Amino acid sequence: MDISNIGGSTAFGIQATFDQNATTEIIKNTTVTVVGSGAVGMLTMHLLQGNRFISRCDDPSHAHIKTEHKNKSIYDREAWGQEVTGARGKTSAGQNLDVFRYTTTLPAESLDCLSLVKDGPEVDCVMISNNPPGGSWHKYDEDQKTISPWSWMFLPGFPEGDQQDFNLFLPDSGREDRMKTDAGSLRHYFQKCSQQLPTDKIFDNHQVTRAEIIPQGWKLTVQGLKGNMTVETKFLVLAVGMTKPREVGFEGENSVRVSHSTAEAVEKMSKLDEQSEVLVVGTGLSAADTINRAWDAGMRVTHLVPEELLQQRGRYKSRGSTAILMSLSGRNSEYPQHCQVIDAMTNASGQSDSYTRLTDYRLKKLSGDGTASLMHDINPTLIEQFDHVAVLCGSMPDFSFLRNEQDEELLQTGKPIVDPGTMRIDGISNLYIAGSCSGDPFQRFVLGHAVAVVEDIKEQLSSKLDEELVVDAVMDLKMELI
Ligand SMILES: Cc1cc2nc3c(=O)[nH]c(=O)nc-3n(C[C@H](O)[C@H](O)[C@H](O)COP(=O)(O)OP(=O)(O)OC[C@H]3O[C@@H](n4cnc5c(N)ncnc54)[C@H](O)[C@@H]3O)c2cc1C
Repeated sequence: MDISNIGGSTAFGIQATFDQNATTEIIKNTTVTVVGSGAVGMLTMHLLQGNRFISRCDDPSHAHIKTEHKNKSIYDREAWGQEVTGARGKTSAGQNLDVFRYTTTLPAESLDCLSLVKDGPEVDCVMISNNPPGGSWHKYDEDQKTISPWSWMFLPGFPEGDQQDFNLFLPDSGREDRMKTDAGSLRHYFQKCSQQLPTDKIFDNHQVTRAEIIPQGWKLTVQGLKGNMTVETKFLVLAVGMTKPREVGFEGENSVRVSHSTAEAVEKMSKLDEQSEVLVVGTGLSAADTINRAWDAGMRVTHLVPEELLQQRGRYKSRGSTAILMSLSGRNSEYPQHCQVIDAMTNASGQSDSYTRLTDYRLKKLSGDGTASLMHDINPTLIEQFDHVAVLCGSMPDFSFLRNEQDEELLQTGKPIVDPGTMRIDGISNLYIAGSCSGDPFQRFVLGHAVAVVEDIKEQLSSKLDEELVVDAVMDLKMELI
């Protein structure tokens, strides 16, 4: 069916025009609200502007993409059926896009098979986020380097990143396609991309504090720097990232000596002297970054490491990014700093001038003066003094603003059940989870969520219009019979 009337003022409510300087509460209506302005929120917004990806592949060497599908929408299930699945990524929605951008062999090479075309009207939408476009990259330490090659961080459908805008780090292998970049460069890049989006629909520095189901869809309470808004929306897309640090639960965890992110640790460590003593709890990527920063500043690190990790290494299962860190082991030419930490963690003595490993110890208590009680199942408790304690045990999405009628959290603890093809929450047809908050950490494998979500919303809107047309037709018939 023709979808030229989808969205906008004709379908659901009025066009949203917010007053960002509001000091009093205002109520607005919109068809789609995207919460989060990271890579995935931005791509979702771009596609809601009436854009769609089509395949323009005509290179027969791309065996998994058939040339007869040229110029077809990449989410045209009739055209593609089940053929389009990639090797990596946790959801079919994520793989569907990835397979048009990279070969499925390792190391993956760029395919560049996509064109973004204007294909239908825009859907009335807004994006609300407590950070500027670029999402979580605004929260990381500016110098925090990517694990992924820099070109993997580009947003498809937006202008290509310009090499001169990025700090680039060439690995010892000299492979330019594996150059890395840093958080500072990505912030700049994503903000440049956001210029493609309608500014009147982007609300950064706004926090969604509550979302509840109402007959028309969702009612959101939004706090801005200058006032509050209430937004009524038909569809809600949560692209909220993994922003809630996992706490360990020791006494004193919320004291000023403790940090829960690399950025916070770097900031707090910058106020300490050389030779300061830092305790690191956690064995993933953020822990490795923090240990490196502490070493750069001449500090000594004590590190709590599970025995099981030392036994299992690459097979170690963790809730955070430990497995990713361990998978970098031995790749010194590309990840020298990560490898330095892995070597320190896993070497036989677990001791050097700047590093002490404590195996299977748990932090039980931290007093205000930095005295820490470290417990072990068999060994006696250790009492040690630290100037800073970095707790870096992974993070989780924060969905606590979603409430049910009894004012309880709507998405209870644990991962909500999501359809991996549409990213729709099980049993709630107008609620989606997109991006890293789905539990898939890497941008490359979650950008496809944006495409799947927008396609599903358009499909729902068009069948809604179909239903309305059927009702109209029945009414017409009744009128004729009277
Ligand atoms: C140290 C580190 C290194 C990484 N390196 C890489 C890498 O090399 N390659 C890679 O692909 N990925 C990497 N990642 C992961 C990367 O950050 C994510 O892939 C990416 O940020 C996902 O984007 P997103 O759009 O899903 O969410 P995010 O970028 O997290 O954006 C979500 C936004 O929503 C906001 N938000 C949340 N709740 C609300 C609310 N209630 N109201 C308003 N706003 C809200 C958040 O504050 C955030 O700004 C790394 C992550 C870390 C921590």
